[in-house]
Amino acid sequence: MHTPLCGHAVGEPVDYARRALEIGLTEIGFADHSPMAKDGFDDWRMRDRQLDKYVAKVRLAQRMFPQLIIRLGLEVDYLPGQESWIRKLAARHPWDYFIGSVHYVSDSWDIDNPAKLSEWKKRDAFEVWSAYFERLTQAAESRLFQIIGHADLPKKFGFRPTQDCRPLYRDFVTAAAQAGCAIELNTAGLRKDCREIYPCLELLKIARVKQVPITFGSDAHAPEEVGLNFAEAVDLARQARYRETCRFHCRQHEFIRI
Ligand SMILES: [Zn+2]
Ligand SMILES: [Zn+2]
Repeated sequence: MHTPLCGHAVGEPVDYARRALEIGLTEIGFADHSPMAKDGFDDWRMRDRQLDKYVAKVRLAQRMFPQLIIRLGLEVDYLPGQESWIRKLAARHPWDYFIGSVHYVSDSWDIDNPAKLSEWKKRDAFEVWSAYFERLTQAAESRLFQIIGHADLPKKFGFRPTQDCRPLYRDFVTAAAQAGCAIELNTAGLRKDCREIYPCLELLKIARVKQVPITFGSDAHAPEEVGLNFAEAVDLARQARYRETCRFHCRQHEFIRI
């Protein structure tokens, strides 16, 4: 879940926590968009000097709602070459988890950015999907992340290749299995043009066979989005024959029956 520090979310962590209790959740986690090595890389993340403020906002929610477990994480962009920066970021606070996400297939194109939709029209969808999954596979291999975020993000606007994407899924899932990182079932996809949870059932089934753990996320950017469509996410997990989900504390995971 996010905070206003990223510039495109509303509501404070305390508001998200209050909403979580209203709908009966027992544990939530924040993972706002992390700073990049250089501020000003784009306009949809906190700046480096805001990191401590972010942690303080989450700590405040923890103090105000002791009856709710609130985890501290970050959604970190994976770009090749950023590994040492990500390690430094990891050392700055006692994070419960890092969600590794690929939004950028090049230094300048974040494929989920609605302002850059025209880029999709200039390219072959399979080329973009392939570039994306290559980076996602590298992200899993880096072992910098406990969870890989929204694994089939390129479907967001509905630009889908006609080619078989299963080989791309397989390479990524194999890397995730080897590195021991989980993938999230992210319900934000249901609120986008693709109208589907990330990732698709086909990818999840491969992940289940390779025993890659899963987590549930609403990717909330507003308090009313907390836990949204979790029933559908649980259905999807069951369709892929998952029986367990996992939770994180101090970067260690623990399995829970669904
Ligand atoms: Zn966001
Ligand atoms: Zn993301």
